[in-house]
Amino acid sequence: MARIVIIEDEPELAHGLRDNLEFEQYTVAHALTGQQGLELVAERPTHLVLLDLMLPDMDGFDVCRRLRESGYTMPIIILSAKSQEIDKVRGLELGADDYVTKPFSLRELLARVSAALRRADQAPATRAQFSVGDRQVDLVRQVVRVDEEELPLGYYEAEILRMLHERVGEAVPRADLLEQIWGVGASPVDRTVDNHVVSLRRKLEDDPKKPQHILTAHAVGYKLVL
Ligand code: CA
Repeated sequence: MARIVIIEDEPELAHGLRDNLEFEQYTVAHALTGQQGLELVAERPTHLVLLDLMLPDMDGFDVCRRLRESGYTMPIIILSAKSQEIDKVRGLELGADDYVTKPFSLRELLARVSAALRRADQAPATRAQFSVGDRQVDLVRQVVRVDEEELPLGYYEAEILRMLHERVGEAVPRADLLEQIWGVGASPVDRTVDNHVVSLRRKLEDDPKKPQHILTAHAVGYKLVL
C-alpha cells in the first residue's frame, strides 16, 4: 500500500487531508516541520510527499532540494497558498514537481495523487536510459548528465520526457500529457505542462530559447527530437 507523507504546519488542513487519503486506503504520516518530514521519509519507504511551502523551520523548496540530494525520486506535490507569488519554473529546477494552490479541490488533489502513484508504479517498465543530443538521460535515477555534471529531474519532468520518448518524433498533445501524467482533464489555461517543459529545456538544450530537441508543436503540444 502506498505511503504518503504530509509535511504541513496547519493542523486542520493536515487532518482533513489525512482523513481523505486514509479513506482512499493510503498509509499516511504527518509532520508539522520540514525536519520532522525529512525524518519521516527516511524512516520507511515513501511513495509520495505532499509539501507545504511555508513551514516554521525551513521553506518547502529546501525540503525538496534535500530530498533530491539524498536521492529520493518520489513525486513531490507542493501545496502553496494563493497569495504566495512564486516562480514556478525556479521551483521546478529545485526539484519540486507540481503545485496545488490552496484552497484546492480535494477531488483534483486525490486524482493527481492517484495518477502520480500509478505512473510511478509503471515507470520502470519503459526504456530508462537514452541520449538527447550530447546529454544522457537516466529516468531510473532521474538525472540528466551534461559533461561531468548531473542535473536532477523532478518526477513530472521525468514523466513528460518518458512519454515524449515513447512517441519520439511525434507531436504529443498537451491534453494527453495532462491526462496520463496528472490524471486531470485539460483546461485551455493550464500552464502546468508548459512550466515543466521550460524547466526541462534548461536542462536539455544548449540554448533553451531556441530548442533543438523539445520542440513546440504549434497548437498541439510537444515533440521530442533526439
Ligand atoms: Ca504553512
